[in-house]
Amino acid sequence: MILVTGGAGFIGANFVLDWLASSDEPVLNLDKLSYAGNLHNLEGLRQDPRHRFVQGDIGDSALLAGLLAEHQPRAIVHFAAESHVDRSIHGPEDFIQTNIVGTFRLLEAVRRYGAALPDRARQGLRFLQVSTDEVYGSLAPREPAFAETRAFQPNSPYSASKAASDHLVRAWHHTYGLPVLTTHCSNNYGPLQFPEKLIPLMIVNALGGQPLPVYGDGLQRRDWLYVKDHCSAIRRVLEAGQVGHSYHIGGGNEQANIDIVHSICTLLDALRPRPDGQSYLSQIAHVQDRPGHDRRYAIDARKIGRELGWQPAETWASGIRKTVQWYLEHPQWVAQVQTGAYRDWVQTCYPQV
Ligand code: NAD
Repeated sequence: MILVTGGAGFIGANFVLDWLASSDEPVLNLDKLSYAGNLHNLEGLRQDPRHRFVQGDIGDSALLAGLLAEHQPRAIVHFAAESHVDRSIHGPEDFIQTNIVGTFRLLEAVRRYGAALPDRARQGLRFLQVSTDEVYGSLAPREPAFAETRAFQPNSPYSASKAASDHLVRAWHHTYGLPVLTTHCSNNYGPLQFPEKLIPLMIVNALGGQPLPVYGDGLQRRDWLYVKDHCSAIRRVLEAGQVGHSYHIGGGNEQANIDIVHSICTLLDALRPRPDGQSYLSQIAHVQDRPGHDRRYAIDARKIGRELGWQPAETWASGIRKTVQWYLEHPQWVAQVQTGAYRDWVQTCYPQV
């Protein structure tokens, strides 16, 4: 069994679905169900005995100790986090609590659990920390992409809290010998992403006839990866990554935000034309830039390709088409996450949580 934290969120849910599509090894899924956690994402697993969902906080040491002792996972894949930069600017407290204190409690619980395991099980144990390229701060226009050796220079409360948790993970390896692996991934997109993030926000607002808010000049550059490629990379690192190492995961697809919005509008114009015949591009509205907005992230993912043989399966063109199609085909999911009605759905379908 593996323990996944944050497995009802965007990437965590995609990971759990992918894992159980390709393996019979059960998943214990621990998620607090914050606004970003949505059991509707895991609807297909409702009757699946390989998936056990527990609603709880990674900061709850007693809960963690009990779950680890009872289920004896061989690996912990740690997604749970507060993940939205804008929310971290308006209210950093939750980011400190979950991303730093929560990760600390989880590390401690896993350290104690590992120490009590028999030798062989202890040697096989893995703690995989899922992190972000945002910990490295902003790149100048022609600087080379971030490599694993780059020093952390986080600029937002979100990235600072993730960097702090990465440092804790590293220290628990060096000090206590915890068998950790860390991944730093670029921006993800794909099905099940909460529509506060750029790509689903643009799709949902476009279809709803709302303005498409673009920060500042829209020339901030990011590297975009289809979420299922992130999941396959994490599986690969868990399987073959070298303990104590970190691995960069990216799509080799660096683009300006405004170009992302243009791609989405062009796809929607073809797939779901506006009734008035105008392009969705007419809904773009430039708004005041985010404070401290990093101009550029780019990730050098050659190490994971070279050492572990991982490559993304999707190109930007194929991934964004699949994503737009998914949102067009799932209006009910979108309506539920927007209204909060999915919480009622949770009570109906999972009365035990
Ligand atoms: P998300 O916000 O969609 O999901 C986070 C999940 O964690 C939610 O289900 C939430 O309920 C849960 N959670 C939050 N606080 C918790 C707590 N205290 N205890 C238990 N569960 C809690 O986030 P995401 O986009 O799926 O990101 C997942 C991980 O991947 C994060 O660690 C993030 O930093 C990292 N990451 C994200 C991206 C990206 O582009 N989204 C890129 C690189 C890395």
